[in-house]
Amino acid sequence: MQAYVISTGTELLLGETLDTNSVFISRCLTKLGIKVIGKSVVGDNRDNIEKALRLGLESADLVVCSGGLGPTRDDLTKQVACDVLGCELELRPDEEAKIREFFAQRRRDMPASNLRQAMFPPEALVLPNPRGTAPGMYLEKGEKLLILLPGPPREMEPMFREEVEPLLRRKLGRTGRAVQTRVIKVLGPGESKVEEMLGEILDDPQGAAIALLANEGEIDIRVTREGENGDEVQRVIKEVESRIVRVLGAHVFGFDDDTLPVVVARMLRDKGLQVAFAESCTGGLLAKLVTDPAGSSEYFWGGVVSYANEAKVGLLGVKEQTLQQHGAVSPETACEMARGIREKSGADIGIGITGIAGPGGGSREKPVGLVYIGLAHADGVEVKELRFLGGREAIRMLTAKTALDWLRRYLLGRG
Ligand code: AMP
Ligand code: MG
Repeated sequence: MQAYVISTGTELLLGETLDTNSVFISRCLTKLGIKVIGKSVVGDNRDNIEKALRLGLESADLVVCSGGLGPTRDDLTKQVACDVLGCELELRPDEEAKIREFFAQRRRDMPASNLRQAMFPPEALVLPNPRGTAPGMYLEKGEKLLILLPGPPREMEPMFREEVEPLLRRKLGRTGRAVQTRVIKVLGPGESKVEEMLGEILDDPQGAAIALLANEGEIDIRVTREGENGDEVQRVIKEVESRIVRVLGAHVFGFDDDTLPVVVARMLRDKGLQVAFAESCTGGLLAKLVTDPAGSSEYFWGGVVSYANEAKVGLLGVKEQTLQQHGAVSPETACEMARGIREKSGADIGIGITGIAGPGGGSREKPVGLVYIGLAHADGVEVKELRFLGGREAIRMLTAKTALDWLRRYLLGRG
């Protein structure tokens, strides 16, 4: 099945509102194994909505449209869609009752225009909207399937999950084709290096499609396989996955919806270990990442953001002499920061980060992007020198992720 996605709303064209709906919808459709072949963003304008709908219905089996289901004059989507498909709108008494109830509960009068939201073609399925007044619509017409959804993401997204997904699953089940996707998540080597390592697998993917997607230092390897037989599809995905994992080894940090902080959290919890951080150039970003998953107090002691030399000395016990002799950005300082926070906190593992995030402060010997990370554990301290390129934000994020990934690899090594 192929799909076309349409977002309507003049605010989207003015750049006032970010079109997150089409991104959400595309992602969900892809997960269901439906290929999105195009999308349009159009204003609240009859002609343009009609053009987009015609293009969508011409080029795909399924058109999913969001926005323009409200009660006001500029909410045109349903009317235009019915004109294009040749359907009549009729008032549905049960829908009318729901909208009247919505207003009654809020002690407000219902404007007559709201009745438009209770009008649907007889052949349509109404998708309930418990979070607003605009119901969605699911309409099969000939070979085509049209889905209309409300614009506000807090109404649209749950409606998609609760109503649209089950309907599409059932529909796909009837067509008898199985599609499965597995995402293998990698951190460490760059995109081209990963591609090179996967060479043989990319040459012979056993009928699966393999795509690489790089984002903030992470690389997603997406393996998709489509076929008549679900078991067969599953078998191929498993085989390709294990070939990829065999080649990439410890560079693989997770699968599908895994995130690096969640994976590291799981490992720390399993091993009953606690960490503490001393951060300079990342300004607490590593602590932020580690506390993104709920419940992190189990394995995260806390951290210190030590920017000034006095903070490094006073809070962490970094030696004045080390700072004078080697500088705040040096392997020696990173080591003492890591050891210092480990000792002060009593945590099992201490991580110290110092570097030059830029844009100023770089020199020939110590350029912007130079970062040292220290990792202190019961058997001593290790330090790594890293050199990143990019702006301040990118350098900080890559540094924090690299530190977290090093922690992951250290924990892997501990078996
Ligand atoms: P509507 O259903 O057209 O009345 O949309 C109501 C509100 O939903 C708009 O004012 C936007 O804030 C939001 N909205 C509509 N379309 C989108 C979209 N594609 N992405 C994100 N928000 C949207
Ligand atoms: Mg609108």
